[in-house]
Amino acid sequence: MDSEEIVRRVNALKLSSSNKDGVVIISADLTSQGLQRLDSCLVGKVLSSKAVNRDTFRTHMPRILQAKKPVNIEVVGENTFLLDFHSVIDRRHVLMDGPWTFFKDLVVFKAPQGLQKPADLVFDEMPIWVQCYNIPIVFMQSTILRNIGSKIGQVLDIEAGDDGNCIGRFARVRVMLDITKPLKQGIWVQTEEKSEAVCIVLLYERLPNFCFSCGIIGHAQRNCDSKSNEGQSDKYGNWLRAQSSAGVRSPIV
Ligand SMILES: [Zn+2]
Repeated sequence: MDSEEIVRRVNALKLSSSNKDGVVIISADLTSQGLQRLDSCLVGKVLSSKAVNRDTFRTHMPRILQAKKPVNIEVVGENTFLLDFHSVIDRRHVLMDGPWTFFKDLVVFKAPQGLQKPADLVFDEMPIWVQCYNIPIVFMQSTILRNIGSKIGQVLDIEAGDDGNCIGRFARVRVMLDITKPLKQGIWVQTEEKSEAVCIVLLYERLPNFCFSCGIIGHAQRNCDSKSNEGQSDKYGNWLRAQSSAGVRSPIV
């Protein structure tokens, strides 16, 4: 039974006064035990227009995730898998250190909360390090970079010294990126005194497959529905991929 059929049947079984007596009441203790299990679980979805083979995913994903202990994996939806970790350290690593890819397609992981079902989860964001180039030295400090980073996504981290200053050819900002929107190639910055605006150029570390036509992650250019960028063949490309930086884990796949 596919997920649409399940929704149809649930709607047909709307709770009414005539069948309320049949509701099963789960005790607080049992519910609490079930909630504890969530601490070892994540749900991951491969964003690809191709169907992902269950056995291939189960075989390769623990290695890709660099899991130190076994991970039980089962299909729970279309290209969607429940991962049950034997190690909370492995689970935290997967949740915190993305983005992850499965043969270059993005895998978005979510931690289910409360009574959420896999079908309730929305896989619309991923954490990623962004390298910011062409920044004036006066802007190379964490407070300003936080302002700049907030235009890319929710800022999770900034690579800076104890004094808040950044040094190097580029600054690194880690953000939670909304993957339903096109990748940004740059951010324009100007001082309050209306200095000449400067374009901060953005490159993304460990960037998964994305569409060179619309700039959205999760489908290939040949499967793109957007016609808005026709004729702008150089708007998106592999040049948005950053070389991995020192201290950054290299992608395995
Ligand atoms: Zn597209």
